[in-house]
Amino acid sequence: MPHAVTAAEIEKAIRNVPDFPKPGIQFKDITPVLADARLFSGAIDLITEKFSPGSVDAVVGIDARGFIFAAAAATKLHAGFVPVRKKGKLPFTTIEQDYALEYGHASVAMHTDALKPGARVLLVDDLLATGGTSAAAAALVQKLGGKIVEAVFLIELKFLDGRQKLSGFPVRSLVVY
Ligand code: AMP
Repeated sequence: MPHAVTAAEIEKAIRNVPDFPKPGIQFKDITPVLADARLFSGAIDLITEKFSPGSVDAVVGIDARGFIFAAAAATKLHAGFVPVRKKGKLPFTTIEQDYALEYGHASVAMHTDALKPGARVLLVDDLLATGGTSAAAAALVQKLGGKIVEAVFLIELKFLDGRQKLSGFPVRSLVVY
């Protein structure tokens, strides 16, 4: 039997693209992980490893790369999938949460009927940087009465200390830079 995918194998496949989308940013490109059938499904196995099917009600994924991992995790856990999108993209009534960017601010949104009060939620994104986006997504989940059982990231940029913005639930990342 082939061995289970390790975080080290995923790390090897992540492509570093310097100066994208602007000078000074090193973009972590996860498309090589997605393109490799074994690594993609192994990443989903690692993201969901703390949970059994039925133990989570919803997997909340963050626009846009978070959707890919969250949707696959949701089918594996027999849970629903809920998108958190940038403001203005969701068609139905929404709740919104502002957060600070390096310059200015941004806003994320979720449908008002996306979660039932008390829903057990796994929060998923591809990358934790400053933590602003995922903290805003967590606030939306909590506004609707959801209970975050864990926030999982494929990648964490530890030097940006995004974890410090996430409290009240466990935070885990597969690959740390
Ligand atoms: P933050 O709110 O600073 O934690 O930023 C997290 C969001 O921005 C995630 O949804 C990531 O997809 C994206 N992001 C931030 N920095 C990078 C990076 N260096 N490479 C790829 N995506 C990034």
